[in-house]
Parts: sequence; structure tokens; C-alpha cells
Amino acid sequence: MNAPLPAQLSSDTQAMIRRLVAFNTTSRESNLALIDWVRDYLQGHGIESRLTFDDSKNKANLFATIGPQIDGGIVISGHTDVVPVDGQNWASDPWDVREEGGHLVGRGVCDMKSFIAVALAQVPQMAARKLARPLHFALSYDEEVGCIGARRMISDLANLGYKPGGCIVGEPTGMELVVAHKGKRAYRCRVRGFESHSALTPNGVNAVEIAAELVTQLRRMALRFRTQGRFDHDYDVPFTTVHVGTIKGGTALNIVPKDCEFVFEFRFLPFDDPVQLLAEIEEFAARFLPEMRAVAPATGITFEELSQLPGFDTGAGSAIAELGRCCNPGGSRFNKVSFGAEASLFHNAGIPAILCGPGHIAQAHQPNEWVSIEQVARCEDFIQRLIDQVAEPA
Ligand SMILES: [Zn+2]
Repeated sequence: MNAPLPAQLSSDTQAMIRRLVAFNTTSRESNLALIDWVRDYLQGHGIESRLTFDDSKNKANLFATIGPQIDGGIVISGHTDVVPVDGQNWASDPWDVREEGGHLVGRGVCDMKSFIAVALAQVPQMAARKLARPLHFALSYDEEVGCIGARRMISDLANLGYKPGGCIVGEPTGMELVVAHKGKRAYRCRVRGFESHSALTPNGVNAVEIAAELVTQLRRMALRFRTQGRFDHDYDVPFTTVHVGTIKGGTALNIVPKDCEFVFEFRFLPFDDPVQLLAEIEEFAARFLPEMRAVAPATGITFEELSQLPGFDTGAGSAIAELGRCCNPGGSRFNKVSFGAEASLFHNAGIPAILCGPGHIAQAHQPNEWVSIEQVARCEDFIQRLIDQVAEPA
């Protein structure tokens, strides 16, 4: 039985969602306006924030503690950045939240400002209660471009003098509890060929054609995992996936192309070794080198790692998973998901993590991104129960 839910959101939550979405925090932009606003808001409730900046000092993470400065607190974690709206067909201003048919629409309402807003809107209640264990806010920058910001914040936590005992990352999971996500490695492959007149193809090395061979091999790998895989059916996509995202090469039809590059990624299950995955495509690529270099010695194929994120699996029996269940009586079983998140970074730093947040990943990154009011209401209930869990009995 699902717990009864408030039919509507509190006005504080609604106002907070509108406020946060109105900051254009596309990953390439500064997030400081939002961070400064949150810092001032927390300060208004007597809560100090700790900021960690990127090298340009244009972006910051915010970490704050509510309650006693002791071990064992719970981190409420969210990224402040959102994906671009460029080239997307929005029916209304993406930075101005509108309500339509039981949904809120705006960039970031699903991924993942509503979660942050729900928690921030309940700061007055958190501050008013006597907390036996602290609650922490951990708001990061540059999650969407490789979980970059959170790494700095997490290494700074070593200077705190106390250590959180668990972390809830509010990525859109449909308010289901997620105890594991896949790991991810992303690469750029550059094929350097040799230019010649296209009437004289044997004098050249066609970088586009070699790249196409490699892309085809990656596709073969993807199909192998999909059909023969090893599988873990607790995941939404129960096998390791391979994906080529962009490719560019060549300048004109009558020139044998000198350069071609493409980017690709592996999203791997815990039992698939990402080092092996890369080695497989590197070995395949090496087969082309003799014929390429026989034409022109300066040709070659290189692989550059763009980003990596470990996977994690907290386990359904962990204390943080149990806490999540107490806060989410309407939720069903524990899930595992294919998309990466900051949860694995906290987890690997010794802070066991789960994911649970309003909305569904299918609506994230889309034009007219939306979250249902029912989902946000469930999140309000979740945070309320979280406060009850860490507070002294009233
Ligand atoms: Zn996200």
C-alpha cells in the first residue's frame, strides 16, 4: 500500500523549484549565482556553507551541515548544473517553470533541481528540530559533464573533522530506491590517415574508412554483450553497453581524408572489466597499422580517455538502503540503474550511497523536461521522514 500523499505541493517547495530553475546553470555557465543564493538562504537559518571552487573560480560546490558536527550524518546530494537547451524545441521558456496537467515543466525540474528544492524548502524544519545525527547538503557543479565538481567536494570532506555515514543522491529514479549503478568510461579515438587526390586512393590512407571499421567493431562488441552477455537483470539495461556518440572526418569528396575522430563509451556492469573492454578495441585497431604505415609512416590510431566514473553497489542490506526504505514506505524493491551518478564517488570515499529522487530519467535532458507533481509530493514526504529519522523524538 502506498502511503497517502498530499494532493499538492507546499508553497515553499513550489517557490523553491521556481527559484532554482530560474538560474541558468547549464554546465558551461557559472553556477555561482545559484550557489551564492543558497549560501545566503542557509545563512538566514544560521547554517554555514563550505564552498569548493573549480580552477577558474567560476563554479563552486556547496557543502553545509545542519545539526551536530559529528560522524554518521546523512548527505543530501544533488548537482546544480543542467544540460543545454540548445537546438531543443521548447514550447515555453525553459527557465520559467510552468504547470501543465499535473506536471511542472522546465529545464532541470526532473534532473535534478526539484529534489534539491524540496530539501532546501524543508531547511526551516531541519533547523528547528534537535537532530541526533546531522543532515548535510552537498550541491555540486559539472555533474553532467563527467561528475567533475563532486570529486573536489568529496576530497575536501577529509578536512571536515567528522564523516557522514550515508548519502542520498536525488537523481530521478521515480522515487524508487536505487542501490547500484553502472560504471562508465568515455574515450576519443583519433585516426590519422594520409591525404591524397581521391583519384589516387592507393597513395592515401583513408581515415574515415579506418574509423568506420573501428565503429563497426564497437557495434559488434555491443551486440555480443546484448545477446551473450553476462547479465544482471536487476538493471534496467541488464548488460554492458557500448555506444558511439559523435564522429567527424574528411573535408571534401575528392580528397582521401587525413583525419577522423569519434567518441564512444562503455557503460559496464561490475563483472565486466573496463580495462579489458578498451584493450579489445585497441587490439583490433592495431591490426590496421601495418597497412596504414606501409603507405605513410606518420599515420596512426590513438585512444584518449575523456572521463571515467566507477560503478557501485551498496547492497540492499546496507544501513543507508534501510534508511531509504524507512523514508519511502510507498517504494517497491531496490533497483539498479544504467546511468552514472555521483553516488559511486561518495560510495568509494567510504560514504555508502543510494539514489532516490523525483521524476524519471526518460524525461531528463529532453525538451519540455517535466516532473509530475505527484512525484515531487512523494519527495516532500521522503525528506520529511528523513528528518524524523535523524531527529530526536519530538
Ligand atoms: Zn542528473
